[in-house]
Amino acid sequence: MKVDLHCHSNVSDGLLPPAEVSRRAADNGVELLALTDHDDVAGLVEARAVAEARGLRFLDGSEISVSWRDDASFHVVGLGIDPANGALLAGLKSIRDGRDGRAHRIAEELDKIGIHGAYEGAARYAEKASIISRAHFARFLVEGKMSPDVKSVFDHYLAKGKPGYVPHEWASLEEALRWIGNASGVAVLAHPLRYRVSRDELRAFLGEFKDRGGQGIEVACGAHSAEEVKECARLARHFGLKGSVASDFHGPGESYAELGKAPPLPDDLVPIWHGLI
Ligand code: AMP
Ligand code: MN
Ligand code: MN
Ligand code: MN
Repeated sequence: MKVDLHCHSNVSDGLLPPAEVSRRAADNGVELLALTDHDDVAGLVEARAVAEARGLRFLDGSEISVSWRDDASFHVVGLGIDPANGALLAGLKSIRDGRDGRAHRIAEELDKIGIHGAYEGAARYAEKASIISRAHFARFLVEGKMSPDVKSVFDHYLAKGKPGYVPHEWASLEEALRWIGNASGVAVLAHPLRYRVSRDELRAFLGEFKDRGGQGIEVACGAHSAEEVKECARLARHFGLKGSVASDFHGPGESYAELGKAPPLPDDLVPIWHGLI
């Protein structure tokens, strides 16, 4: 079965409306899809309707921003969540509310290095979205020819240690797992090797994640090389986590992987979607 359990619409920082994401997934032969916008569930009704009309199975999802220990952040994907769950909705709203002040602080830092009007510029790219993400800032900086593409904007301006980076307090791991669990979903660690943490810290995080009820890890991840997929498979086996398949598609020309084009999941791992569909 062709599976993709991590992608974004323009409800968060993707480029396509939710219906277009489902259409594109269907055109690409995806049979099981989850839309996982950052810190929101607002696109799920539209995405599900189109997915089901095209004969796809659909899981409701969201990618939740989490702070851990002093200054690390991780993304935890909730899959099979009830998108009407009150505590989940309130929790996600609290994260979205915090994002606006962060966006102003990012703009203030960019202003100091001579990049003016970045809040308004990013907000234009987030017109249809319920959040402002660094991806919106990145598009504005590309427009202003500060960098040739989104990835190099991150490398020069927005990643940790760069002038436009500001620390931010997201949800705690405990909160994110509670919201997902209360909403009858399963929690999956997104793109495990894309965080700015040491391997020891990643392992410590995964131990805590598993102990607190986390169930899955993105092994077949579009943002990972073949070697990294193997490393994630080893982590899945070591921590007793199920495997997920994730393009992390944001839009044509702006992603590591096209919708439905994540690498295959190694045969010996238990797929996270078993028991969810
Ligand atoms: P935020 O949640 O506001 O911190 O923004 C994180 C988002 O920025 C991710 O979900 C990606 O969409 C994007 N992003 C982060 N790092 C990179 C990168 N190195 N290249 C391209 N996009 C990135
Ligand atoms: Mn994103
Ligand atoms: Mn992410
Ligand atoms: Mn993502």
